[in-house]
Amino acid sequence: MPDIAIVGAGFIGLASAAALMRDGHRVTLFDPSGVGQGASFGNAGTFAHYACIPVNNPSVFRDLPRFLLSKNSPFRLRWQYLPHLAPWLVRFMVSSLPRRYEASAGALAALLALAQEGYAPLLADPELARFVRPRECLYLYSNAASFDAAGAALDLRRQLGVAFDVLAGADIRGLEPSLAPIFERGVLFSDSWHFSDPRGFLQALYERLAAQGLALDHSAVSVVQPSADGVRLKVNGAARPFSHVVIATGAHSAQFARQCGDVVPLDTERGYHVRYPGAQQLISRPVGWAERGFYMTPMSDGIRVAGTVELGGFSDTRNRSLLDLLTFSSKRALPALDTPDSSWLGFRPTLPDGLPVLGRSRASDRVIYAFGHQHLGLTLAGVSGRIVADLIARREPPLDLAPYAATRF
Ligand SMILES: Cc1cc2nc3c(=O)[nH]c(=O)nc-3n(C[C@H](O)[C@H](O)[C@H](O)COP(=O)(O)OP(=O)(O)OC[C@H]3O[C@@H](n4cnc5c(N)ncnc54)[C@H](O)[C@@H]3O)c2cc1C
Repeated sequence: MPDIAIVGAGFIGLASAAALMRDGHRVTLFDPSGVGQGASFGNAGTFAHYACIPVNNPSVFRDLPRFLLSKNSPFRLRWQYLPHLAPWLVRFMVSSLPRRYEASAGALAALLALAQEGYAPLLADPELARFVRPRECLYLYSNAASFDAAGAALDLRRQLGVAFDVLAGADIRGLEPSLAPIFERGVLFSDSWHFSDPRGFLQALYERLAAQGLALDHSAVSVVQPSADGVRLKVNGAARPFSHVVIATGAHSAQFARQCGDVVPLDTERGYHVRYPGAQQLISRPVGWAERGFYMTPMSDGIRVAGTVELGGFSDTRNRSLLDLLTFSSKRALPALDTPDSSWLGFRPTLPDGLPVLGRSRASDRVIYAFGHQHLGLTLAGVSGRIVADLIARREPPLDLAPYAATRF
């Protein structure tokens, strides 16, 4: 039996490799950039199993005009990209209507409810568990009015089974004394945690799997071509046969879906981080600032300030004003911060309804899709890998996959 190929070596590709190898498969990973170099490299590192409210939610109708015009907005649109983005944006707005949004939130919550269990086999390994920091994430509001405006979304989270405590200003300062006294309300999400080094975790996972036989090919795949008895990949001009192929190329997955008969409206939400080296002792947990759209996460090498959403395609040009916003706002929240020493731009893979694509392709049940995890690819990696392995083994997956099908569009 030829190997199974996984295209893309980010959180989703590696977690899929781990799950398939637990089933005894031989696996080859393809990624020209190596392990953990896409969106998986620079994220905020939070295991956010509470984040079932997608960006497409009814508040966009109220907030979008302000977001697009304010210089302190963490949400931006590159206007020159608008003609390309327009069809995605229309679907995004439709998905933000109350009934559609509630359906997305329910489907996200169902997947997120399995996220911890999905990580269990990975974190049973002490070499991987050492990257976990079990401190609950704190999400802050600098004024009570914006907390009140988030009330309906918090109520929906509670209905969907998310556990959290609401905190007042004094409680927040008690938990994190280095924060400036500018936050009026906070939410502490039970049982959440973060990685001290997301890319370090992936490298360690890769090394564990490589020792058990995982092959990594530093080549780009150009074509995925299902056939009667398997799937051929075109790599460096040559055809390579596999029994099954998993598409885990994050924001770059739509081309492969198209080759396998599925048109998916995948685009990217660009996000940024800046790093303050050596400042990690200032906070003990990930601290999010709701109005400014970012997290400050204590990592092994400093505080990573990660977030913002920029709709603008795959250009490498960085938006200076969003990086300045991250720097200026994090210093306002944590006045002891000094100067960031590095910055990063990453491309979140996002469908307009905020749900990933998990399932078989239209052309062949030997091509499995696992992409489009938007702000939650780290969180959902374990459960996504498990679903991939279930589909290939023809086992019953742990939940109904209809909401995540490529054919839903
Ligand atoms: C600022 C920011 C903060 C975030 N914070 C969090 C967080 O706190 N928690 C959370 O859960 N999620 C977070 N996310 C989201 C998370 O990072 C992504 O959802 C996740 O990394 C997606 O993983 P992936 O494996 O699908 O894609 P990627 O990590 O992007 O990996 C895809 C890989 O495919 C490869 N590839 C592309 N084309 C080809 C080809 N033709 N052939 C072979 N390989 C190819 C790429 O090189 C890349 O390595 C954040 C994202 C950003 C940008």
